[in-house]
Amino acid sequence: ATPTSIMVGTGKGAEMGVLIKGGEALENAHGLDAVVLDKTGTLTRGEPELTDVATYDGLPEQELLQLVASAERSSEHPLGEAIVRGARKRGVEPGEAEGFEAVAGGGVKARVEGRNVLVGSQRFLEESGISGDGLAPRGEELARDGKTPVFVAVDGEPAGLVAVADTLREEAREAIEQLHGMGLEVAMITGDDRRTAEAIARELGIDRVLAEVLPQDKAAEVRRLQEEGRKVGMVGDGINDAPALAQADVGIAIGTGTDVAMEAADITLISGDVRGVARAIKLSKATMKNIK
Ligand code: ADP
Ligand code: MG
Repeated sequence: ATPTSIMVGTGKGAEMGVLIKGGEALENAHGLDAVVLDKTGTLTRGEPELTDVATYDGLPEQELLQLVASAERSSEHPLGEAIVRGARKRGVEPGEAEGFEAVAGGGVKARVEGRNVLVGSQRFLEESGISGDGLAPRGEELARDGKTPVFVAVDGEPAGLVAVADTLREEAREAIEQLHGMGLEVAMITGDDRRTAEAIARELGIDRVLAEVLPQDKAAEVRRLQEEGRKVGMVGDGINDAPALAQADVGIAIGTGTDVAMEAADITLISGDVRGVARAIKLSKATMKNIK
């Protein structure tokens, strides 16, 4: 494209809240054939809430919640923060925890009231040698509702689970319809439970689900799609998404997300409206057509 058509294109984008960093991004966007969207904070609002508390083996609910909230007290993960907020709302004040340790994409460990508490995904518990089998049926039920099941073990034994759910962004469904209308394949990527992710994907009409992906593996998933011969757009908001945004043919950041994501991306959707992805592609098509 000529410098003038690029200036016109980026100018129009800015008017629509689509901030395009350079001419290259504007040129590349028209050739995309797949878009990968991060789930939490991109398709959902990123404001998860504690919805369920289910105990196993007779531990009273308030006691389970006390242990979980205390273990998560120092967590900076949205799930941990949601659990702490939810506990307080239910009249449970998180207590002291020792030896707090967060494992990215897994969960947290801490000692609470002299007990070893593990909170996280089923896989996280199983990697610590604790069977999640007893909790799994309830976990599956919660996941089918699109909630994230968070498994809890106390002193090496399964103790219960809590569930956290996030609300879909209002415009997410329409944003995906628009991409389908342009003939693109739409995938969702997340570290979340596969069944939870699939329930949400069904609701949104998403074609492909990449679930239980560790934060450090998101970029590799994008690269795999590229190796299949696809031109991939990646849309994300988090620090975890930055390498995948950089790897993609076009990286698109949610403007209400983290600075790190915006720095790694080629395009930023200022208001966080994911319909901006289709807008950017249309703009790119128009720009490229003008010069032919
Ligand atoms: P996402 O891609 O949704 O941001 P992450 O990769 O951060 O997810 O985490 C993946 C999974 O690891 C979560 O769905 C949850 O099961 C578990 N997990 C991570 N951190 C925590 C935490 N602080 N408390 C409970 N579970 C956690
Ligand atoms: Mg996110």
